[in-house]
Amino acid sequence: MYGSFYCTRCGERLKSKQPNCGSCGQPTAPELKYDTADGRGAGGLGWARNTDDVRFAGYENSYTSVSLIWMIAIPLLINGFMFYNGTFEMNKTGFTYAAVLSAILIIPGIIFLLKRRVKVEEWEGEIVDKKAVERVRTERDEEGENIQVTYIDYELLVRNVNGSMRTHSLGSSEMLFSYYRVGDYIKCHGKPNLKGLEKYDKRFDAFTFCMKCGNSNDFRNNFCDACGSPILKGENIKS
Ligand SMILES: [Zn+2]
Ligand SMILES: [Zn+2]
Repeated sequence: MYGSFYCTRCGERLKSKQPNCGSCGQPTAPELKYDTADGRGAGGLGWARNTDDVRFAGYENSYTSVSLIWMIAIPLLINGFMFYNGTFEMNKTGFTYAAVLSAILIIPGIIFLLKRRVKVEEWEGEIVDKKAVERVRTERDEEGENIQVTYIDYELLVRNVNGSMRTHSLGSSEMLFSYYRVGDYIKCHGKPNLKGLEKYDKRFDAFTFCMKCGNSNDFRNNFCDACGSPILKGENIKS
């Protein structure tokens, strides 16, 4: 839990210690927020329709702007310093050095930003099995010695709609492992800001995970309290 930074009803950014959302008025305290006992049933049935919501990219866009500002500011500062202290002279050679240095500083940043935008594959299928696999990795201890550390990797075995099989790793998250059940129909949206797997039938869970940041959210939330992204829900069918 990162704490409550966004209104879970309307998605507005909250100021600290605000008792109510400034936009829609919803109380921010969890015990006052909801009118039902728990979130079970609020997730609904079917694929969510708001996966293209611009709020999924909100943080991404500001992240890109901040990175771009730094990518311009840092070469300017370093080159300015180099000219100021005389390392680079104010002539053709000096300017060539400055240009090369700027390129060296900027190119890795551009590659990094582009990599973050790479699309992941879109797929959907049914969970046919899940297992906890014990794996071993090599780590260094305090004395710098290599040691073998065992860890658990939770995996889902999925039969894709096209019939092929896929193993999907959930990492070491026990919460995710219990959230996805055998027989669940799941979908990976193949969008850079939707990293999680959506469940088709969400009626039997009281909580879900934000597709953007992975934070656990009550299914009565419309927006993630940690990052403000919409919570994916299906049609609400009340029986
Ligand atoms: Zn609100
Ligand atoms: Zn989130």
